[in-house]
Amino acid sequence: MSSTTLLIIIMAIVLAEYLLSEWLSFRNSKSSKLPVPQQLEGLYDAEKYEKQQRYFRVNSRFSFVSSTFSTIVMLLLLSTQLFGELYEYCSSITTHIIAVNIIFFGIILIASDITTLPFQIYETFVIEERFGFNKTTVKTFIGDKIKSLFLTIILGGGLLSLIVWLYTLLGTNFWWAAFCVAISFSLVMSMFYSQLIVPLFNKQTPLPEGELRDEINEFAQRAGFKITNIYVIDGSKRTTKANAYFTGLGKKKRIVLYDTLIEELTTKEVVAVLAHEIGHYKKRHTLQNFFMSGLAMLIQLYILSLTLTNVTMAEAMGASEPVFALSLIAFGILYTPVDLLTGLFMNSVSRRAEYQADDFAAKYGLGEELITSLKKLSVKSLSNLTPDKLYVKFYYSHPTLLQRILAIKKD
Ligand SMILES: [Zn+2]
Repeated sequence: MSSTTLLIIIMAIVLAEYLLSEWLSFRNSKSSKLPVPQQLEGLYDAEKYEKQQRYFRVNSRFSFVSSTFSTIVMLLLLSTQLFGELYEYCSSITTHIIAVNIIFFGIILIASDITTLPFQIYETFVIEERFGFNKTTVKTFIGDKIKSLFLTIILGGGLLSLIVWLYTLLGTNFWWAAFCVAISFSLVMSMFYSQLIVPLFNKQTPLPEGELRDEINEFAQRAGFKITNIYVIDGSKRTTKANAYFTGLGKKKRIVLYDTLIEELTTKEVVAVLAHEIGHYKKRHTLQNFFMSGLAMLIQLYILSLTLTNVTMAEAMGASEPVFALSLIAFGILYTPVDLLTGLFMNSVSRRAEYQADDFAAKYGLGEELITSLKKLSVKSLSNLTPDKLYVKFYYSHPTLLQRILAIKKD
């Protein structure tokens, strides 16, 4: 195969992925206008539903514009072989291989940050603001940007250096060592995420004594779950949307509730949401997820290692001989179809886990409260009540509201 043919294939994959996602969005837009299913009737009043429909349309249009823009940019970069030229330029600055890679990916990161910034600003300060969700101040927004950039430089730069170094040391055999590095990194991150990363962005405080804490303790005892770490996070600093999540492994595990969640829901409903989170833990979903993504990563790294010395791939990217960074970009795109399939599979596993966690809460007699809390949270975030089936398969990590309600009622 000539490098031109390969370049055409690479660009065709970028285009095909874009067309697929636009087709799915189009189906979802059509579906969003369907009549509300009987079980969900009366969830929104007429005025609120009109607002939900507007919010949906505005978001669809926005994601169409931003994904069209990024696809065009990507196609331009590939067709002009600018990645190859950029790499050549970086190699002219220094011959140190790790430094070349850091500069190369650093420039790409900064350029992509600058081009996507207007979109982020528009989303936060125009769309979310108009619909009353935004709580982010300009100061918080800028602070977040600086902190994330700082984190990317330290963590991303560190990981990249390590992996490039392993590649120079082990050649194409580097994949297993890179896997060990990546898996240890993600293990350390999941252990210390709450203590090291979250505090940079949010304040977490232990749930204070009181009715809620008593009810939670009472439930935990009933469920045979040792609960030590329940934290409240100031999600209201950025958005009015509410959430709860489970994080960490072993002794580091903790349940985090958004302050907005506690504000929106009754005590019983918060306990139901928490029971769902404990359900995830009891059914070992965190561990399951960890192993599955680990396996996906191992396979991906192995296949990557087979392509790193491919000359055609290097030429397609505008280089004369294989270089790690360029092969990585080409591989990333060529791997998209596999990635899509992996995503489909992971989402279906995740949706099944959600049913199991709901089921856990329902088994403890909290089904009704879980349903009312899910309804409240749906209305609060103006979520779409009639998503397209295929769209759900591709993008939803949770079953739809209707699916969840029906499943909980069945118990
Ligand atoms: Zn869940």
